[in-house]
Amino acid sequence: MTVLLTGGTGYIGSHTATALSEAGHEVILLDNFCNSHRAILERLEKIVGKSVPCIEGDVRDTALVKRTLQEYGVEVVIHLAGLKAVGESVKTPLNYYENNVHGTLSLLRAMDEADVNNMIFSSSATVYGDPQYLPIDEDHPLAPTNPYGRTKLYIEQILEDHVRANDNIKVVNLRYFNPVGSHSSALLGEDPRGIPNNLMPFMARVASGELKELSVFGDDYPTMDGTGVRDYIHVVDLAEGHVAALEFLPRSTGFETFNLGTGSGFSVLQVIQSYEVACGKKIPYQIVKRRPGDIASCYTDPNKANAVLKWKANRSLSEMCLSSWDFQRRLN
Ligand code: NAD
Ligand code: UDP
Repeated sequence: MTVLLTGGTGYIGSHTATALSEAGHEVILLDNFCNSHRAILERLEKIVGKSVPCIEGDVRDTALVKRTLQEYGVEVVIHLAGLKAVGESVKTPLNYYENNVHGTLSLLRAMDEADVNNMIFSSSATVYGDPQYLPIDEDHPLAPTNPYGRTKLYIEQILEDHVRANDNIKVVNLRYFNPVGSHSSALLGEDPRGIPNNLMPFMARVASGELKELSVFGDDYPTMDGTGVRDYIHVVDLAEGHVAALEFLPRSTGFETFNLGTGSGFSVLQVIQSYEVACGKKIPYQIVKRRPGDIASCYTDPNKANAVLKWKANRSLSEMCLSSWDFQRRLN
């Protein structure tokens, strides 16, 4: 199929482009490069063995998106473009609503005008908010606790309304848990600008000596060792989840949601231990206060995705840490 990836040069988009290409699909990227680099394109070319077309532009530019969809004969859009930093979304909520929600509306208009009826949307486990039970299945109540999460929930609701009003439109809504790790080539990976907010990229920079020590946010949670537990998923497994979602689209009847995670939770201390083995050195860390807004544990029930998409996240925590470290070493 011919697939347009909005936000296609970002962390998840670049891995997804690779997986789709390897599965025989034609990919076109559209990105405004607000959180990615052009250099990704050369690396993608190296991995997939051919150049990947990339349009520099914003999803809010409806005319440009429409033209792109028509010129390339796009059949499916994977909509990854968006801003994703929780803390930043609390400080500048309008930017988040403008970019994420308005961006999606503009994209949907362009798709309507170009008669493109299939979308896979990048949502997040953050739409569930504080877990009321674990593991989290797709029927868990939705109650995001920050503007970023609310943009994802509003977009999901817009998509659901759009599908309900139009028999020919299909949307697969993917709620990602915690994507980490890198492509096996070490050419693609997570390289956030500035000081990373997330555990794995922060730890990678501590391991490389760029940052002095890791702060572990709280050791008094009701978990196995008191530190926060998350469902880390290898980004290549996640990318393959998109291929499975694409193959599921023709069988879908309208709007379908899937959680993408492994179903296993690991604590911060367990991740540190695994990273130490991967990089062959100690990760200096200090236990500090809880991070405001954090929850104790979050992991998915992966059964729906496993059964319906016929997809499973198989890569281990140790593979996630090893690939993260391989990528980090190449950066330094
Ligand atoms: P990323 O920042 O690496 O990639 C997003 C890409 O979108 C970037 O390349 C950025 O330049 C581009 N972009 C942003 N706004 C745009 C716009 N208006 N027009 C065109 N391009 C735009 O982030 P990622 O980690 O690859 O995340 C991809 C998607 O997955 C996002 O929607 C994010 O909210 C969602 N998600 C990510 C995570 C995670 O932990 N990484 C978890 C759950 C959901
Ligand atoms: N975490 C930490 N130190 C950091 C970053 C994160 O201890 O510098 C913890 C955080 O409290 C949570 C886990 O690591 O328990 C995963 O955090 P991350 O920000 O990567 O993902 P999220 O909280 O969004 O699930």
